[in-house]
Amino acid sequence: MSMQNSDQGAYIRRIVDTEINLVSFSLAQPVIMQTIVNKKNEIIMTNLLLSSRLKAVNERIIASAGASGRPIHEVRLLAVSKTKPLEQLEQAYQAGQRHFAENYAQEAVEKRTSWPHSGCEWHFIGPLQSNKTRAIAEHYDWVHTVDRFKIAKRLNDQRPSKRAPLKVLIQVNISNDPAKSGVLTEEVYALAKQLLTLPALEFKGLMTITAANLSKDDLKAQFLQLKSLRDTLIQDFSSCTELSMGMSADFELAIECGATMVRVGSEIFGARPTTTE
Ligand SMILES: *Cc1c(COP(=O)(O)O)cnc(C)c1O
Repeated sequence: MSMQNSDQGAYIRRIVDTEINLVSFSLAQPVIMQTIVNKKNEIIMTNLLLSSRLKAVNERIIASAGASGRPIHEVRLLAVSKTKPLEQLEQAYQAGQRHFAENYAQEAVEKRTSWPHSGCEWHFIGPLQSNKTRAIAEHYDWVHTVDRFKIAKRLNDQRPSKRAPLKVLIQVNISNDPAKSGVLTEEVYALAKQLLTLPALEFKGLMTITAANLSKDDLKAQFLQLKSLRDTLIQDFSSCTELSMGMSADFELAIECGATMVRVGSEIFGARPTTTE
């Protein structure tokens, strides 16, 4: 966590605007090139690069949906913007992105509350502790990481009554890996039943974070297991339609296996720093 904070300090909130004329494209309007630089004046991202990265991800999503015979409107791209400065989210917004996902409660709420645009949806995808539920219940549209009734109950009780129900997913520990968070497969049904007693929440589906370094076959087997669990649950819980699975390294496979929401960070925004400066 402290590592994340110091990484964030590596950004300075400066945008360098340069007006460039792309004459060869004969654009009627000049293109504004916005460059985000870090403390060392190194370029982190430009709006033109970000929009082309985003476009490439969207094209890959369309291709995988097409290859598996799924309509593209079934798959939503969540831009995972954790540790990235607000200016980069703005660049993604200008390029058409509307769903944003954050992991760290404090950063998540700060970004959401300083966001100037309406019409976006905000997804909380990080671990949620009791003392952070209120801010998320007040400011977010989705929580993907519900793994116990206690947290769900707090989110329910703290959801402002003037807001639509908070959409929640149950995080499933599909690999039954004791080191991972999430509910074991055999416990999901009981938690889903409890969620139905909470009127300020809407149970929308399942989410999983697969273990790193799985073989493609194992990964595929786990994605398909989550889908089959969702297909079983939907018989008793008609709102359980969503499958949040797949990240930068494996979102195409996840879509082939039925993902309705893919959570993509580094492929859009660039790598996140892993070491402190
Ligand atoms: C960081 C994160 C992602 C995105 O990871 P990338 O590999 O950068 O795409 C997706 N889901 C969760 C839960 C994450 O924490």
